[in-house]
Amino acid sequence: MINLKTLEVWFITGSQDLYGEETLHQVAEHSKTISAYLNEEDRLPVTVVYKPTVKSTAEVTAVMQEANNATNCIGVMTWMHTFSPAKMWINGLKILNKPLLHFHTQFNRDIPWSTIDMDFMNLNQSAHGDREFGFMMTRMRINRKVVVGHWQDNESLSKIDGWMRAAAGWHDWQGARFVRFGDNMRYVAVTEGDKVEAETKFGYSVNTYGVGDLVAVVNQVSEEQIDELIAIYEDEYTLVDSLQKGGTQHQSLREAARIEIGIETFLVNGNFKGFTTTFEDLHGLVQLPGIAAQRLMTKGYGFAGEGDWKTAALVRAMKVMGSGLKGGTSFMEDYTYHFNPDNRMVLGAHMLEICESISDAKPSCEIHPLGIGGKADPVRLVFNSGPGPAINASVVDMGNRFRLLVNEVMAVTSFNPLPMLPVARVLWKPYPNMHTGCAAWILAGGAHHTCYSQSLSADHLEDFAEMAGIEYLLIGKDTKINQFKNELRWNEIAYK
Ligand code: MN
Repeated sequence: MINLKTLEVWFITGSQDLYGEETLHQVAEHSKTISAYLNEEDRLPVTVVYKPTVKSTAEVTAVMQEANNATNCIGVMTWMHTFSPAKMWINGLKILNKPLLHFHTQFNRDIPWSTIDMDFMNLNQSAHGDREFGFMMTRMRINRKVVVGHWQDNESLSKIDGWMRAAAGWHDWQGARFVRFGDNMRYVAVTEGDKVEAETKFGYSVNTYGVGDLVAVVNQVSEEQIDELIAIYEDEYTLVDSLQKGGTQHQSLREAARIEIGIETFLVNGNFKGFTTTFEDLHGLVQLPGIAAQRLMTKGYGFAGEGDWKTAALVRAMKVMGSGLKGGTSFMEDYTYHFNPDNRMVLGAHMLEICESISDAKPSCEIHPLGIGGKADPVRLVFNSGPGPAINASVVDMGNRFRLLVNEVMAVTSFNPLPMLPVARVLWKPYPNMHTGCAAWILAGGAHHTCYSQSLSADHLEDFAEMAGIEYLLIGKDTKINQFKNELRWNEIAYK
């Protein structure tokens, strides 16, 4: 889907004129060496671009201006190899409108015990140069990521990797367009939100189209286009008998294909990165889009049901962040519970629309009644999702701010077959445990809709929330209810 390598992070080294040409030459060489190393062998998902050392207010301001204007630049990485008096950075930092990672590293990993002299000390002084820079960022109240460690250390690289992914998701949201076919589900609260504030804060727009506008596109899909997509269905899925050619419900499969092609055409023509549907507004569509939503998510589109545009946008951003990583990312809903004291867990699913990227095997393509919405039986992909660590994330509108809530979970394998369950599903155990995890989620006002990801970790979303400048709450292995309640109370003041 999204190739993150076309995106750039600029590596900017700070210094000053006092050091003389020889030292500044060495600084530049070292910065080039580090940039080159970071770009070797796909160590990082995004391309690192070396920028000449900045040594004055004018140079800092110029490079930040340039970074703002460079369309492929998703953020900057700064490092003070030597001392760079931080008042030089004020103007540049004031105008920078992209994420910043402060890489607190040092060219030499080890102190050369037997040869160290004052020349070495004066060249390798990020230990205090970066503190001066850090003060200015803190004084200016600028959100940023601080990564500490040697530049060849895998732990440092992994943190930079995560931040780059978050920055790619953030970059993707700027100017992104999301379309809603129909409004939010009637009377539902948590899927509502302030779309003007969202566009101001997040950079993406959300607009509604009548489902009739979509139907007009769906109705133009040709029989040949449908034939081609049916061949793909036959190749990629195990079709139940009734859906196969000559089967009693094959026509329903063709209708599902028509809807998928129609939605994709609408998205491509409108340059949309994601969409929502609602079963309450399907006039002119014969079925609720099931397999269509599932497959379009796999292609990288954001999606959520019942008009939930906040989750659709989050699914898109998380798919961009997870691009190229192992594991999938999907729209999800906490559906039902297993409260057996020996094995408490959540069964996650939706009416239909779970992304096949989290499937553990070849999905089965099936048709069943929906029992809601009064439309023809929809076609859907049915599968289990594999075990392993994952996260659930939810954005809620608190009225005066957006809150990003994340719960770390451990997905488990079902040892019981689920022969009567006609939807894709996941089983997971929330951290720190079922009772605390669910209680904290509810206390924080987390939605029933989430984005579920096997490929991302909570760290990705923490970086993402910092970039967006929104509240971030984690429910993880160390969460205790009394502390979590205090965090909620204190945040009320922090965001007042
Ligand atoms: Mn739902």
